[in-house]
Amino acid sequence: MTKQAALDELKAQILKDNPCPQLAGQATQLVFGTGPADADIVFIGEAPGKNEDLKGEPFVGAAGKFLDEMLTSVGLERKDIYITNIVKYRPPNNRDPEPEEKKEFWPYLVKQIAIIQPKVIVTLGRHSGQAFLKDLRISADHGKARKIKAVASGKEITLNILPLYHPAAALYNGGLRETLIDDFKQVTELLKTTEN
Ligand code: URA
Repeated sequence: MTKQAALDELKAQILKDNPCPQLAGQATQLVFGTGPADADIVFIGEAPGKNEDLKGEPFVGAAGKFLDEMLTSVGLERKDIYITNIVKYRPPNNRDPEPEEKKEFWPYLVKQIAIIQPKVIVTLGRHSGQAFLKDLRISADHGKARKIKAVASGKEITLNILPLYHPAAALYNGGLRETLIDDFKQVTELLKTTEN
């Protein structure tokens, strides 16, 4: 089976299992993820917002625009990366996802990553970062990659996690903008130095 077929199957499985009916019931659609199924880099945000909910794609609003700028600054484009979220339905009124909601989606996220087998996983924001790195302090740990183990379908896999600030945070805090642009250089560095 191709990686794309495996991703399509996983998406169908989420729709069938309906792991978060209370979120699904209020959202327009599932925002599963976009990008090539064999991408070397996977970006992971928190949860879809209004624009993402309407379009069915992650990071299509203002934060997504800034993300595109940062990708361009290191010579990458959307078509080079896979992008998804921890929680795959929009929480009502853009509230933070609940711990329980993150937990419900976690096994599907790990499967998604195990199918793609990226060299690097870039987490965007504290919520996404802490899902992988429990002790993450974003102000101290941003831009520093760490390897962790996770279990997908009973198999242990190693993940190379680069925690970054969320692009939306940088839109509201000019100081973080420079930090994020600077940290972004790590993305291409890691790609060069990481074996698959
Ligand atoms: N913020 C996120 O964390 N994810 C999106 O898809 C859009 C905005």
